[in-house]
Amino acid sequence: MSATAEHAELAERFGTPLYVYDLDRVRAARRSLFGDLPDGFHLYYALKANPHPAIARALREGAGPACRAEISSPGELAAALEAGYAGGDCLYTGPGKTDAEIALALSHGVRRFSVESIGDLRRIGGHARAAGVVADCLLRVNALASGAATGLRMMGKPSQFGIDAETLPGLAAELSSVDGTRIAGAHFFTMSNAASEDALLAEYDQAAQSAVRLAELGFALDYVDLGGGFGAPYATPGERSAYPGLRDGLASVLDDRLPGWRTGSPELACESGRSLVAGAGSLLCRVVNVKTSRDNTFVVLDGGINVLGGLSGIGRLLPAAVQLDDAAPTETAHLAGPLCTPGDLLGRAVRVPKLTAGDLVTIPNTGAYGPTASLVHFLSRPAPAEVVLDGGEVVSATRLESRRTPVALA
Ligand SMILES: *Cc1c(COP(=O)(O)O)cnc(C)c1O
Repeated sequence: MSATAEHAELAERFGTPLYVYDLDRVRAARRSLFGDLPDGFHLYYALKANPHPAIARALREGAGPACRAEISSPGELAAALEAGYAGGDCLYTGPGKTDAEIALALSHGVRRFSVESIGDLRRIGGHARAAGVVADCLLRVNALASGAATGLRMMGKPSQFGIDAETLPGLAAELSSVDGTRIAGAHFFTMSNAASEDALLAEYDQAAQSAVRLAELGFALDYVDLGGGFGAPYATPGERSAYPGLRDGLASVLDDRLPGWRTGSPELACESGRSLVAGAGSLLCRVVNVKTSRDNTFVVLDGGINVLGGLSGIGRLLPAAVQLDDAAPTETAHLAGPLCTPGDLLGRAVRVPKLTAGDLVTIPNTGAYGPTASLVHFLSRPAPAEVVLDGGEVVSATRLESRRTPVALA
């Protein structure tokens, strides 16, 4: 069956808007990304990209190296546990970990935390002490300089993320003496969606140098998470980035900076969301109406930023594009959603086939940052259904429900 015919059948069966995820493609991306990294690297899957348990599970189970889970909320912890990850497979991150979620994570066996500030470290230490355990903490460092100016930059400037590198010498004694915690190494995550392999390598080289400076300050360096940045197209056609030279390039950076790495000192990790799962998902929407307004064609779909594109508010989505049939005639149109706001545009002036009401369109590469990154509650429409395929068969069909529930009075 062609992808188009299969999509048509699924849309008929489950309705639209509909997300379709293909676990075979999730597994292929996992194999490929592990293959791009030197042997022995850990790879954390950032559940933020798509917390669907079937997807998280496909990144862990089966042949070959398994992903670990990078989580930063009670919901992501629950999804990781449901997908079969143990607490010990998780790295808990985020600048605003609350007392309740730290205690919850510890109670489920999470022992590795990324630490974003001294206050964060103290809070983790307090709960670890109460639980009678020691939390392994990775210092997230906000380095002064950075390797490359590409992708979404998050570091090298004032930030809620990470501890400013220049303050570390002054903080070293304090950071090293928080009961219930042990500084076990470092965590870097400086950018998303790097433009090139060279940009990635430059970034990892910077991270490795920052790690060395931590060791010079007397911190243990058992574990270094170098970060991510692996690229993938988002809501437009295309293939995920390939990194043919990363494995060797990174090995030589590490031989230079952290020569003990080949014998596990430090152990090393990278992390990824989009490049593991974006290509495994498609969003199917039905055309509700096509209209012309002052020479502009608007294709109005039954899904908009409520199902794809909560991230559009931070300028990261537009323009989405639809998958085109090679031969069919095309025109230029704006892709609008059904919401009562002019902001509900998935794509401006994109090439579309000649469409009429009732036609189905596929927005490709939407396996990452889909429903949970969208304005699902806005305008109170149902969330999109999410169908999971494994070996071409539907193995799960669900919808995230939201309903108003009473909150217990304290
Ligand atoms: C968002 C995030 C990721 C995933 O980013 P991608 O661009 O989807 O790979 C990884 N690590 C951390 C700490 C993040 O916040």
